[in-house]
This record gives sequence, structure tokens and C-alpha cells, in this order.
Amino acid sequence: MAQLILKNVYKRYDGQKKKMFKKKKKKENDFAVKDVSYECQDGEFIGILGPSGCGKSTTLRMVAGLEKITAGEIYIGDVLINDLQPKDRNIGLAFEDYALYPPLSIYENLAFNMRAKKKKEDEIKKAIEYVAPLMKIDDLLDMKPSALSGGQKQRVNIARAIVRRPGLLLLDEPLSHLDGKMRQQLRQEIKRMHHEIKCTTIIVTHDQMEAMSLADRIVIMKEGEIQQIGTPLEVYDDPANEFVAGFIGEPPMNLMPSVIEKQGDKYMFTFEGSELQVEVPKRYNKVVKDKMKVILGVRPVDVLIAEEEVSSTPVPVAVYENLGDERRISVRVGEMLLSMTTPEDVYYETGQNVQLVFHEERTHLFDPETGGRIK
Ligand code: ADP
Repeated sequence: MAQLILKNVYKRYDGQKKKMFKKKKKKENDFAVKDVSYECQDGEFIGILGPSGCGKSTTLRMVAGLEKITAGEIYIGDVLINDLQPKDRNIGLAFEDYALYPPLSIYENLAFNMRAKKKKEDEIKKAIEYVAPLMKIDDLLDMKPSALSGGQKQRVNIARAIVRRPGLLLLDEPLSHLDGKMRQQLRQEIKRMHHEIKCTTIIVTHDQMEAMSLADRIVIMKEGEIQQIGTPLEVYDDPANEFVAGFIGEPPMNLMPSVIEKQGDKYMFTFEGSELQVEVPKRYNKVVKDKMKVILGVRPVDVLIAEEEVSSTPVPVAVYENLGDERRISVRVGEMLLSMTTPEDVYYETGQNVQLVFHEERTHLFDPETGGRIK
């Protein structure tokens, strides 16, 4: 088990520099990973989350030693591992592709790396007998990979990564190939496995559900840079910026360009291109000013349709969806749709005018220029 520390880590691939030079791309597109720093505590489960191409895999591959870092330092415990060979890093790796050896049985696949390390047969057997029930592959040990389903192959793949009991377990999109139900099952198995062996683990994923359900803390990346590090609840409840706010949560947070205007002793949001006005929560009174442009962020679950008359302007219902365990209602606000969800069994006609109430404590403001949070 180990603590992992990344200090101001950068990665620039050779091609990136040339591309930038040729096309005069902005300087910030120069690096696949930019100034990434974080600490992963001993036994912690970290999720690296972000859209495709934001540098998640590159970060993981640098930790594994599969990519050279351009600048910065990576430590496992207090050992600087920048120049350490992958095999000397005591790391277990499982990628999206299973890469099992087809001619070998599952037992032999699990034993392969330990044999290469000249481990004794009884030690190998003991290690496999420990991980096989953990990943629920006891019944598969005599089979060949070709006889296994995708989910079973990924179980074996992860079992192979942990069989040598590495200090650090690195999982790169291990569930991406799997379909919905299998994905959810294996996600739970991974969580249970981590609870059992308490190995410091990093999972790279573009799937927020996966990161939210598995990780103790999530590192959210965009264009090579960390946007926020926090527990699943922190990044959901307290997003650092507009990007994180829009990326975390399903359905996504409503992010509505609006102008704050003072009316009497109140501040009101006026939504871009719309007549809709809603009062600004009083807790923002000290940070807002008249005619200030903001992005108003509010989650669909935090918007309600008022049952009694309130001071907000009526807006028409555009879409009503009954999804069984929740209703999703979108209202038209100028050119935009603002969506809300409710577990209540209510029905609204398209075109019906409704008045909205926003959850005061859960309404966020962002700077339209920088995307930064206004608190
Ligand atoms: P993610 O895992 O978030 O999808 P990656 O780490 O794979 O992102 O990629 C980050 C950026 O680095 C992307 O712009 C990608 O095109 C670029 N990149 C990744 N691998 C290479 C490579 N071997 N050579 C050049 N550019 C690469």
C-alpha cells in the first residue's frame, strides 16, 4: 500500500509542440497535462474524471511509468519514481482492453507475472486462491479466455492486476466495454474488492456515475488541467466552476446566462432573451451589483413549480416526460430550456404557464468571463 504524490506534473507529446507551432494554436493547447498536483492517501480510492482527451489516461500512464513526464515529480511514498522502470513501481494495471493470453487458462494468466518474478508455486497458488473469490472468478480458473464473457474477462483482468498485491492499483476505463447491468455489477465488485484489500487505487473514467460511486475523492480535469478535487458530495454540492457544475450531475445543472438588476431593495435575475425574473437569494446581496452579468446555475432537482402565486414571471411548459420514478419538465426561457425533475406524480400540459421557485441555498452563480464561482 502506498501514498501517491504528483507535484506540478506536465506532459507534452512530441506532436503537440509542432502542431502548436504550425497552426499557431493557443499556448494552453501545448500540453496534454498541465501543472497537475494531487496527493492520494494510503488506501484511498481516487477517480480521475473528465471528458475525452482531457489528459486522464496520460496522467495515469505517467504514474505507471508508461509515459515519460515532461516536467514535475511523482512520488510513491517518499520515493521519487520519475525515472523508475514500470516493473519497479509495484503497480497493478488494468486497462479497458483485457489483454489476456488466449492460449493460457485463467489460472495460468493470473500466475504469469508471478512466475516471471520467480515466485514459488505454492505462493502463486495461495495468491490466486485469495483473489479468485474476491473477483468471483473461482469457477473460471480452468477455462480459456475465449470462453468468457466481457464482464468475466474484465474480472480476470482486475484479479490479475491485484494478485501480486501491488502498492498501487491503476484502472483505466475498466468498465467502458461493458453494458449497463454488467457495468453496475462490476462497479459494485470493484468497490467491495477495494474495501477488502484497501489498496490505494486510481480509476480513470469519463463516466461521472462511476467516479461518484467508487471514489473517495474525484479529480476533475479539463484540457489537461485539474478543475477541482473533492469528495463526490463536494463536487456535486459545491462545484468550483461552471465546467464542474455542468459536468457533474444527471440531468445536468441548468446554466442560464442572466443579468442581475436591482429593483427597489431586491436584486432580481433577468434571464437572457426572456421576460422571466426570479429573485436573487439574499445571501448574494454582498457580492452582486446592479446590471451584473452572471451564469445562474441550478440543478433540475432544485427547481420547483410554485403551487401558489409567487413573484416570478410565468413561463410556458415546453416538454413533459414521465420517466416512471420521476417526472422531467422543461420550461421555455427565451431561447433556452430550463429543466426540473420531481418525484411527485404531477402532470403539466405543454404550453401551460407555471411559476418557478429556485432552492435558495442551492442556487449557484458563475462569472460568465472566467467560469469561476461567485460566492
Ligand atoms: P483522456 O484519457 O482524458 O481521453 P488522453 O490522456 O488520452 O486523454 O489524451 C490527452 C491529450 O493528449 C489528447 O489531446 C490526445 O490527443 C493527446 N495524446 C494522447 N496520447 C498521445 C500520443 N501518444 N501522442 C500525441 N498526443 C497524444
